[in-house]
Amino acid sequence: MKMFRGFFVILALGSSIVLCAAAQAQAPAASAKTPIRIAVATFSHETCTFCPSPTGVTEWEYYGPPMTGDDVLKSGGYIRGFVDAAREYDGVQIVGIYSPRDAKGGSSGSWVTKEAFDKYSKGMAEDMKRAGHLDGVYLALHGAMAVTGVPKPEAELVRRLRQEVGQIPIFVTLDLHANEDKELSDAANAVFIIKRYPHYDVALQGERAARIMIRTIRGTYKPVMATRKPGIITPSVFQGTDMSPSMEIMERARKWEERTRDVYVSVAYGFAYADVPDVGATVMVVTNNNPKLANEIADDMSGYIWRIREQFAGKKLPKTKEGVAQAIASARSGKKPVVIADHSDRTGNSTHILEELIRQGGRNFCITTLADEKAVNEIASKNKAGDTVTVSVGGYADQYAGNPVKITGTVDFLGRYGRFEKVVVLRFGENNRVILTPLLHEATDSSIFQPLGIKLADLDVIVLKSRVHFRRGYYENGLAGDIVVVDAPGLGPADLSTIPYKNIPKNLYPLVR
Ligand SMILES: [Zn+2]
Repeated sequence: MKMFRGFFVILALGSSIVLCAAAQAQAPAASAKTPIRIAVATFSHETCTFCPSPTGVTEWEYYGPPMTGDDVLKSGGYIRGFVDAAREYDGVQIVGIYSPRDAKGGSSGSWVTKEAFDKYSKGMAEDMKRAGHLDGVYLALHGAMAVTGVPKPEAELVRRLRQEVGQIPIFVTLDLHANEDKELSDAANAVFIIKRYPHYDVALQGERAARIMIRTIRGTYKPVMATRKPGIITPSVFQGTDMSPSMEIMERARKWEERTRDVYVSVAYGFAYADVPDVGATVMVVTNNNPKLANEIADDMSGYIWRIREQFAGKKLPKTKEGVAQAIASARSGKKPVVIADHSDRTGNSTHILEELIRQGGRNFCITTLADEKAVNEIASKNKAGDTVTVSVGGYADQYAGNPVKITGTVDFLGRYGRFEKVVVLRFGENNRVILTPLLHEATDSSIFQPLGIKLADLDVIVLKSRVHFRRGYYENGLAGDIVVVDAPGLGPADLSTIPYKNIPKNLYPLVR
């Protein structure tokens, strides 16, 4: 028996009309003995549309051609959770499907080209066709991909794959920086979003997707979703879930999940540095065939986020001069090392804090890291470790990156680190260092120092190009003596009113109060 059931509920929420589509499809109920085949794929990008360089096929294939087969299943993160859980079940087969790798430069990459989006969505659909009979599709997406000429790419990807696979369950997991709306929940059957920033629950959400997917295919779960846009936009730096009120929002979602059986409540805070029509917070609720409950919970969550909007979106941070002075004073009072989060620098090439540290007589500081491929190549072409060099670093990759800073120092390290063939450590002034990487590198913990020959105990101040993820490696383990988040000029400012948006809705708080 094949069932197809679609139903729509129209709700008036404040002044805006919200249309909720429930799940489109229900697979035929299969007995536990019928083998199940589920396709698994990923296509993930957090696009900083204000950043300078587009993300095309060359960038997507910088680390190699797209993955296929078992390489996809071994790719970790959300997929690890999905695969581990699915393998606990008898009679469940999972098939890795053509999936692009991480793009060069990660979230410092701008608009994904339509050519790249078309290539990978087509490649994925074709590989699903080759895979033969499928009972379900799991997609590990990010949710903040922005594609030139494709307004809501994740929803579009699901629609394109749906054309190939038909009315079988398509489940999606997302990062909490996702910019989505009901187009995605209309296209997909269920969406699960991580609740922690730093992102500790990626595997957990993958696991949930697997268990609910298998129940859906076997006929004991029928995902029905409700989606809301609370109407707020927040900079990433305020979204950490170890901070209030972000913590309370996710706790409220967990309470709903705990007291209501078979309910999954997700909130994406959104990614403010993408100029897209579905930017900002999104609530997505999955229930087991209970549209009334889905709508009730979605309204509750959305209403709560709106009520605490001032606390959430209205915080203030010190600017460069004040923040650097605060960090130096804190280090001198013995709270070492002090971590400065240069949160707004999205290309990793900004020198505002480096310049200010030099100006204020900072010592024992380390810029971790400065993305400057030109300087890395210039030093590597003429020098070896131990040489003294004079070189200009940073200050050119975007219009807010500041001025190039001329440094005369010693090359303490020149060689491979992680994914990078060449990384340079320059030591200058009073035991100061700048770690030069060819691309943006967000050092979320202190593991970078030892391989580069830097002793953590020698550092008074560590400057990171990070917003919240660094808290995992510096705050949670008590390593940082103090943390100063500095709002230097950059493409990712805390004050969103300075961003020249063109495509976002007109009524988002705090842009409109
Ligand atoms: Zn994220």
